[in-house]
Amino acid sequence: MAEKAFKYVILGGGVSAGYAAREFSNQGVKPGELAIISKEAVAPYERPALSKGYLFPQGAARLPGFHVCVGSGGEKLLPEWYSEKGISLILGTEIVKADLASKTLISAAGETFKYQTLIIATGSSVINLTDFGTQGAEAKNIFYLREIIDADELVKAIKSEKNKKAVIVGGGYIGLELSAALRINDIDVTMVYPEPWCMPRLFTSGIAAFYEGFYANKGVQIIKGTVAAGFSANEDGEVSEVKLKDGRVLEADIVVVGVGARPRTALFKGQVEEEKGGIKTDGFFRTSNPDVYAVGDVATFPLKLLNEIRRVEHVDHARKSAEQAVKAIFASEHKRTIDEYDYLPYFYSRAFDLSWQFYGDNAGDDVLFGDHDPTSSAHKFGTYWVKDGKVVGAFLESGTPEEYKALATVARLQPSVDSLDQLAAKGISFALNV
Ligand SMILES: Cc1cc2nc3c(=O)[nH]c(=O)nc-3n(C[C@H](O)[C@H](O)[C@H](O)COP(=O)(O)OP(=O)(O)OC[C@H]3O[C@@H](n4cnc5c(N)ncnc54)[C@H](O)[C@@H]3O)c2cc1C
Repeated sequence: MAEKAFKYVILGGGVSAGYAAREFSNQGVKPGELAIISKEAVAPYERPALSKGYLFPQGAARLPGFHVCVGSGGEKLLPEWYSEKGISLILGTEIVKADLASKTLISAAGETFKYQTLIIATGSSVINLTDFGTQGAEAKNIFYLREIIDADELVKAIKSEKNKKAVIVGGGYIGLELSAALRINDIDVTMVYPEPWCMPRLFTSGIAAFYEGFYANKGVQIIKGTVAAGFSANEDGEVSEVKLKDGRVLEADIVVVGVGARPRTALFKGQVEEEKGGIKTDGFFRTSNPDVYAVGDVATFPLKLLNEIRRVEHVDHARKSAEQAVKAIFASEHKRTIDEYDYLPYFYSRAFDLSWQFYGDNAGDDVLFGDHDPTSSAHKFGTYWVKDGKVVGAFLESGTPEEYKALATVARLQPSVDSLDQLAAKGISFALNV
């Protein structure tokens, strides 16, 4: 089969790939120099939409409405944009072998792609219950959500009249967003997770109590402290029951599993240095192989602000790391220097009519402020994290754009505080006055 050669190849066609392509264009990439190779059949899109607008009962988001870079207020890169720029968008193509020594990628169909510089942007894959041998986990109507084809399958199940009861396995981002999405589609929803409260990696018990109360008021049943240990199926092979480890059995005709994701690094094992489960990079997203960069979910990079090495599985970092890598590639080609990546962690989520943002680090003492009564129509609350006398992280539900901006400033500047009680009393006005 014919071999194709490009100066630059981006492996993966998700969020990072799309933002990298825009930056390549800004930097003056020439027609024919860049290719994006993606397993997915569609041009890069804003993945977070899949668990939000894509599942709305009315006015649902559909492509081409959420191609990158609309999620950050930028131009929407339609498939024509890539062809106009002379960027090869090689879709529906899974790379099954990567040989970094000979700079060669080989697809499942046996095509060979050569590159001079490679950007690895393969993202994450979901953790599947069949990986743990959970009994019955291969039944139909047990869904995972990562790519648009997964979302399409889920939409079909949601729209089917016979499906009225759902069990959501997992209490993280996906669990919370999917429970809300199914509930607004008028489906009976039960969430199951083993931890004492939802989203324990970020939420404190105080933050979680608000969301758990709010969800309960919306009719979502929450079962904590146990896990799905097995599934039963009907004669058509469709899931019919979820068996919990504590012995309870829940009826279900839809199950959505959100128990985490793993960075997709398998193709590069032994060829680049790894750390913390990801591909180790410097502050320019260059890996231990100087012609190979890694961005987005797969990159373990120096988080300068916190003086740590971290991997971040969030869309804001996917966008910014991609831009940084492309800037660094052009700078190195033109013997210029650019600043090292100096990232301020930023995560957000939206579900029902709720919306929160978080900046910085959730380390140290936490200080809850504001109206966090889930039954209050005026609910608006937040949390600061204080470590060594400094505010290092900030969370806010139902904020205004100005307040979120102030939160980011606080997390970046890390102002000192004397009293946690005073900080709680000041609440959001503390951030607005920094
Ligand atoms: C449903 C959902 C909702 C989310 N919501 C939020 C949110 O609200 N806020 C937030 O901050 N973050 C959210 N995230 C996380 C965010 O979307 C990711 O961090 C981000 O997409 C990572 O970008 P990426 O480019 O590294 O990987 P991805 O966007 O996952 O792209 C990876 C691409 O690589 C392709 N690929 C992988 N392996 C191969 C191969 N061997 N050959 C060819 N192609 C390959 C994949 O098909 C995919 O196209 C969400 C994620 C999901 C799944």
